[in-house]
Formats: sequence, C-alpha cells, structure tokens
Amino acid sequence: MPEHFIGGHAALDLSNAVYDRRNPPLHNELFNSPRDIGTWLLAAGLADEQEAVAVAEIRDRHFLHEVRDIRESSYALFDAIASNLEPPSQPLGLLCSRAANRLGAQQVAWDGTRLALASDQWEDPALVTAFLAFLSIEAFFTLPRARLRVCPRCGWLFVDISRGGKRRWCNMRVCGNREKGSPPSGPSGIVRGKMTTHPAPWPHSSHIVGSGFKHHGASLCHRRARRELTIRLLQVC
Ligand SMILES: [Zn+2]
Repeated sequence: MPEHFIGGHAALDLSNAVYDRRNPPLHNELFNSPRDIGTWLLAAGLADEQEAVAVAEIRDRHFLHEVRDIRESSYALFDAIASNLEPPSQPLGLLCSRAANRLGAQQVAWDGTRLALASDQWEDPALVTAFLAFLSIEAFFTLPRARLRVCPRCGWLFVDISRGGKRRWCNMRVCGNREKGSPPSGPSGIVRGKMTTHPAPWPHSSHIVGSGFKHHGASLCHRRARRELTIRLLQVC
C-alpha cells in the first residue's frame, strides 16, 4: 500500500519495513517469512511476479535474519544521517559485507548502480541479500543528505523533495493527524476516513485476505491488479 512506500528510495522503504520505529507495537515486524520478503519486493516494484515467488520459496534458514540485518543496518545508517550525526561505520560495514556475498562466485549483471539479477538468481538467498544491500549502498552515496528526514512520530525515513524542504511527516493522514490529537480510532485505525496508524501491508496469517498492498506511484491499473493478484497468491503459497 502507498503508505508503506513513502521513502523516495527503495533503501529507505526497506528501512521503514516495520510498523513503527519510535513506539513499536507488540507485532512490529513485517518480515516474518521469505514470503513476506517476496511480497515486499513485488510491491516495491523491485521484482516481478515470478521473481517474487522465487524469493518466497527460499528455504535457507538464515535468509530471513540476514534480510532483517540489512534492513536494520540501513535504518541505523540513514537515521543517523537524517539526525545530522556522523554515519556509523558498523552498519555500513555489514552492508558492504553482504553486498560482496557470492559476487566472486558467479557472474552478475548491473543496471546502473543496482544488481540486475537473472530470473534464476532470485532463488539464491545470498544474491537477494546482496541485491538489497547494494540498494542501501547506492542510497548512501547518492541521496541528498540535507533532504533526508525522519518522521518525528513513527521514525520512518524519507527524502523531502518538497519545494521548501519543510516536509515533516511520513504521511500527513497518519502521523500528521496523530500530532493534531485525532480522536481515538477504531480497530481499523481509521477515524472519519483518516488513518491514525500505519495500516498493515499484508495479513500476518497464512489465509487469503484481500490485500490492499499497492505500489506507490503505480499508474497502470491492470499492472497493479496483476501485482495484487500475485501478492494474494503469495499469501497462500
Ligand atoms: Zn510517521
């Protein structure tokens, strides 16, 4: 869903792949299985349907934790930059280490500064983690640091591309409203058509539930419908 892709760069969206950084709820984790990672890659527009399914079917027991490590390292790095602190070396070191994984063992292609994995390479957990790590390394060297922001409510990161550079919230409908003291929300987190919490991007259960997960900025309805259909299929694989 659009609310989960507000970073302005895939590395920031990856860093934001939890519900809340500042006041984490009991179930704050969005990556609970390789299937969740495949779903995220598809929704982010980084993988197609077939590639997302390949990721969802990865059985390596370390894969999930390594993706979480990359996400947390990205967050630590960009949160420091957004807070005008010196970028810490340790998370950057982890990202470089993961990015180098397996590159010496086989040929990979590049799309500019990003890894362009072949269809069968999405089955390789080390190459998928390398792909994600390179996103953050790319962002580290290319994002305009003076425009990197952290939402004061939820801690999500984003690039402020507003003309005046005064954007404060990840999403005005979510965190902006909370700041204004919206009345208590119902179970859906929606009050009079306004969200007060980040909505779930996909169900945590393994049952079919209609997913509202959409790619931010997607313009082709039928492409979006196809993507959402695949996401639903990923929920039940
Ligand atoms: Zn926020």
